[in-house]
This record gives sequence, C-alpha cells and structure tokens, in this order.
Amino acid sequence: MKPVLIRLHASDNVAVVGNEGGLAAGTVVDGGPTLRERVPQAHKLALVDLPAGSEVRRYGVVIGRTTRDVPAGGWVHERVLQMPAAPPLAGLPMPTADSARPPALPLLPPLESHYFDGYRNADGSVGTRNLLAITTTVQCVAGVLDHALARIRRELLPQYRQVDGVVGIEHAYGCGVAIDAPDAAIPIRTLRHIALNPNFGGEVMVLSLGCEKLQPERLLPPGSIAIGGQVRLQDDKHVGFASMVDSIMSTAQAHLQRLNERRRVRVPAAELVVGVQCGGSDAFSGITANPAVGHCSDLLVRAGATVLFSEVTEVRDAVDQLTRRAATPQVAQRIIEEMAWYDAYLARGGADRSANTTPGNKAGGLSNIVEKAMGSIVKSGTAPIVGVVAPGERVLTRGLNYAATPASDFICGTLQLAAGMNLHVFTTGRGTPYGLAECPVVKVATRSELARRWHDLMDLDAGPIADGTASVEQMGRALFELLLQVASGRRTWAEQHGLANALVLFNPAPVT
Ligand code: CA
Repeated sequence: MKPVLIRLHASDNVAVVGNEGGLAAGTVVDGGPTLRERVPQAHKLALVDLPAGSEVRRYGVVIGRTTRDVPAGGWVHERVLQMPAAPPLAGLPMPTADSARPPALPLLPPLESHYFDGYRNADGSVGTRNLLAITTTVQCVAGVLDHALARIRRELLPQYRQVDGVVGIEHAYGCGVAIDAPDAAIPIRTLRHIALNPNFGGEVMVLSLGCEKLQPERLLPPGSIAIGGQVRLQDDKHVGFASMVDSIMSTAQAHLQRLNERRRVRVPAAELVVGVQCGGSDAFSGITANPAVGHCSDLLVRAGATVLFSEVTEVRDAVDQLTRRAATPQVAQRIIEEMAWYDAYLARGGADRSANTTPGNKAGGLSNIVEKAMGSIVKSGTAPIVGVVAPGERVLTRGLNYAATPASDFICGTLQLAAGMNLHVFTTGRGTPYGLAECPVVKVATRSELARRWHDLMDLDAGPIADGTASVEQMGRALFELLLQVASGRRTWAEQHGLANALVLFNPAPVT
C-alpha cells in the first residue's frame, strides 16, 4: 500500500496519514521518514526530528510544543503535545477605518443565475420548508403538546398535502429561572426569533400554561410580532385533558388551512441563509469536508446569500484571521467583544477553550483545540466578514456572518435557527446522525469509509478530496448544487428517516 501523507502548508513539520487503517512501523515514505511506530489514519507523523520543546506546525500554525523527543517518523499525538495559550485579544490585525475592505481580501466576483424553489413570506424572507411551528412558553406544556402533535400528524396533516410537517418548539426554559437576570435576554430572544424562522411561514402559534414566568407577551411582545392562535392550558374553559388537546387541534387546523394555500416559487439563491457547523470532527475535517464547505460558502456569498459560521471555542485560536477578514473596524471590534464575553463566561465556570475537544476528536487525530480550530475555521471560506450575530439575535446583513454560538451541535443549531437559518450544513468525521425538525440538515462526511458505512445518513462524501480524485473546488460546487436541490424540496437522509435532535437553549443566566 502506497503511503498517503497530507501536508497542507509548506512550513508544516508534521503530515496527516491518509491511508485507511493507518501506516505500520517500518513503512518507508518516498522522500520522507521511515515510520518508527504504527500511526493510525488521520493522525500526525513527524516529518523531521522534533526534540522536546519543538514547535509543531500544522496549517502553517503552531499547534503546540513537543513534551519529549519525537524522532522523524514518530507519532505526534496529544500526549506528546503541549497546547499554546489562547492568542490575546489585544493588538489584533484590524481593518483600517478609511477602507471598507482590507486590501488583502480578494473581491469575489458575483455569481448570478442560481435559483431555488422556496416559500416567500410576508416579511420578505424565504422558507425552504412549509412547516407549522407551535411555540411554547414553558416546558410544563410539552407532554400535552407531544400528545397533540401525534394526533395532528395522524389526523390533520394528511388533509393538508402542501404542509411539510408540524414541529413543537419545546425547551426546558420558561419558569424556575432568574428571568430578569441580564443574561436571561439570550434564551428569551432565542425563542422569540426561532418563532420567526422563515420555514414557519410567518404563522406563530403559541401554547402556554398560565402561571409561568415567561408569559406569552414577554416571549412575543404585542405590536412587534403578529401572533396567530394562542392556547392557554389553565384557561377556565379547559375542563379535562381532552378539551386542552381539542383546543390545540382546532387552533392548529386554522393555521394549517392557511399554510396549505402556499406554493413554492422560483427565487434567487441569495435568499438562502445557510448555517454551517461541524460535529464529531476528526483530522480529516480540516482537509476534506470543511474546505469544501468553505468553497461552497464563497459560492453562496458570491450568489448574494447569507452564510453563518459559528462555534466560538473552535475559532477562538484563529481570532487574528477573523479580525483580518472583517469588512469594517466595527465588525472586527464586535468579533473581539464576542470572544471576550465567551472567555469570561468559560472562566466563570472554571473552564477554558481546551474543554471543547472530545475523546472522539483525539481518537480521530485532533490533538487539541488549536488543531481543531484551524480545521474548523476553513468552513468560513475566504469572503469578508460583514456582520456579527450575538447569541439569539437575527442576522441583519447578507454575506458572511460570524454568529457567536457555543460549539455544542444542538445549541449551535438552535441559535442558528434563531438567526434565521433556512438550510443547515453539517460536517462530520467520526459520524453523528444529527438532524433538525425545523430545517433541512445536509451532512457531509470527511472520509469515504464513513460515507460507505453510513450510506443512508451522509448526504455527501468529501473523502475523494483526500485521495485526490476530487478537488476542493469540485466538491464545494457539488455541495452548492445539492444545497439548491434540498432548498427546493429534495429531502435529506435525516428528513427521510425523520431524525431530529431536540432544540437546546443557551442559557448563561442562573436557574432558581
Ligand atoms: Ca458543533
């Protein structure tokens, strides 16, 4: 078997093993070292002798220093690597005030004549699905809602063929929380903005209990949002469980009748709001799937669409790359503010960014968060960053936006939904069956072996980039075309199986 070593930057002194099954001790690399020990697939091999204390470079960046001598041909794993400190937030490269765009940033030429068939909403946004969402004020109502949802799906949906589904916006918030604490604004605005997601057709139906802290008018302030049907379980008119369910069913029916009148219309690709994230990453994430997503992100931005990249702890170590790419000094400043807020949030909990990596990441060859971050940030492509979205806020500017969210797959997805995401791209190397009921999730495998084993869960295999049978640009273009098809109604594997993870709110405020 010919050894496949992947080195991404000329200054790198390690390379990643591409061969399935890894490389055995004694393997001779053409023009390179002889392996001193077995190195698993996706793990790093020292290309030169690395005495203790040596800088280890990948992506052209120092990802750590060796804690002991590693000879050329040795395995560089997390136990021989000491992680550097997080880069300081002062003295970062900033765009100058008199230039709207830093000179280093290429002007991406516009990409025209790409369309999808979506559902145009009254507020101008476009849905990729036609869903009835029933939003809730408090977890207490979830059991009753689940019962009603099962009946709606069974008894009502078959009569409304134009409606793709019904989803309950369920969560653990709403009561037993410090609702006036400063940080409570985050979960509350997240729920408010999810109700406005383009995939829900501007139809906000609310289910509340009655005695909870998060009252409907606090969730959706009157005058700001047109609320449709409301059901309150503690209302006197409800005598027994069945009457509660009847109220939900009849209110939902009125919404379904209106949603059923909607039809897909041809709209420009510019109407896409694509959230990108990764989960269950491995060392191939930064070589195959994430660069392909980055190229696709550039195509989307060129087509006028909105792209959200996120996961604070997975971009923190690349903060200098982000501020350098900010379109204005104000955007760079907002990036720094969000990073500083998150540093303080982690410190308050006695943790730092190193808490991000999982045992699976390490088994997959990612030694630490610096290496993971360098592979994660490439999902954002090369476009200028035109906006920063605070957790739970809506995106306001078309183009590439940094949506500051935790890296947790569920919390990131929930916050991207609140930002207005109508299509989700998710890369994975270890494999996760992640899906959302609110929005299609296109899953991209980093390795062909995973794509083969999980053939009915992965929507695209980026593995051919690793073995040289496809370029990053070809794969990025393929993903772009797939996104337009999915936006037009083609169902993802997760949708075909009905796989959906729970929404998880980001609540940095105290509970009581
Ligand atoms: Ca994630």
